[in-house]
Amino acid sequence: MPPDQSPASGDAHTDTLADEIRAGSRRALARAITLIESTRRDDRTRANALLAGLLPATGDAVRIGITGVPGVGKSTFIEAFGLDLIGRGLRVAVLAVDPSSPRTGGSILGDKTRMEGLARHPDAFIRPSPSGGTLGGIARRTGEVMLAVEAAGFDVVLIETVGAGQSEFAVADLADMFMLLVAPGGGDELQGIKKGIVELADLVIVTKADGDLAPAAERARRDYAAALHMLRPMGDGWTPRVLTTSAMAGDGFDEVWRAVTEFRDATETSGERERRRALRRGKAMWDDITETLVAALQNDARVAELATVLEADVEAGRMTPTTAAEHLLSAFRATTTDTE
Ligand code: GDP
Repeated sequence: MPPDQSPASGDAHTDTLADEIRAGSRRALARAITLIESTRRDDRTRANALLAGLLPATGDAVRIGITGVPGVGKSTFIEAFGLDLIGRGLRVAVLAVDPSSPRTGGSILGDKTRMEGLARHPDAFIRPSPSGGTLGGIARRTGEVMLAVEAAGFDVVLIETVGAGQSEFAVADLADMFMLLVAPGGGDELQGIKKGIVELADLVIVTKADGDLAPAAERARRDYAAALHMLRPMGDGWTPRVLTTSAMAGDGFDEVWRAVTEFRDATETSGERERRRALRRGKAMWDDITETLVAALQNDARVAELATVLEADVEAGRMTPTTAAEHLLSAFRATTTDTE
């Protein structure tokens, strides 16, 4: 490892920044996040050093993933739940993972106006999704931002995703507890949500359980409870629950928070939380390696032509994918040994 790439090579500036973050400075936190999200190589090096310094101050927050299709009431829920948590003396960070959201004009700018009370509150911190790059890259940066906000003393991290595509699986990989928000009514109650996502849910929350929608919300609660009972394998230490809430009436948050604390206590005591975090950290490392290696190969001009030829051969059925992959990898390996 070249010396400038060593994770421990923090300079005085990163050391000061780490101290300021731990002391709770929002400006320092914002600067750290800019560094973490930068794609510049020297920024990455400094971000790595900074995170190495912050790591011992992380890990104590409750990490909650929240998903649900657009319109289900996520922003309204997060605003109301976040303020409820602040009312319990907790500091709340809201992060988003949204590969479809460019920084400007993205959904979180909308969320910021919708989550007005939270956005203004000194005990809350709202951060949009990092823009650009692959979902894996966005999720890893969000994971690093999560470490920074934890070091800054936030007790609860809510990680929101838009509930379309693969991003909820990435969020489930960052969070300890995964909440799926569903709306009352809508014919068959599963509302086209992918079965895999329902299976991931530690808590299903039926939103908008107020007024005319209250009976439909109760029916949805029963349907989801039955569905979860069928879907969720027994014996992983937690039985998922289905709760109804109304962000507008402020109902149901005591029960949601009770479920969160019971989940946290159960998974902490059994060691399950740390086991899952450890597995995911290892997976994140290998994902990073895989993505970096594939990008290096795809951007290597010396094998680009061969890659095009082999791809055409594979597509035309003249060569098996495995043989072509072996050819390409040995050509790539030859170029990397050349450069050493
Ligand atoms: P998101 O797209 O999932 O973030 O959903 P929003 O939070 O923007 O909410 C979508 C719509 O549902 C809005 O028109 C909200 O006013 C409405 N809504 C959200 N929460 C509630 C609630 O608790 N009760 C009722 N009746 N409507 C709600």
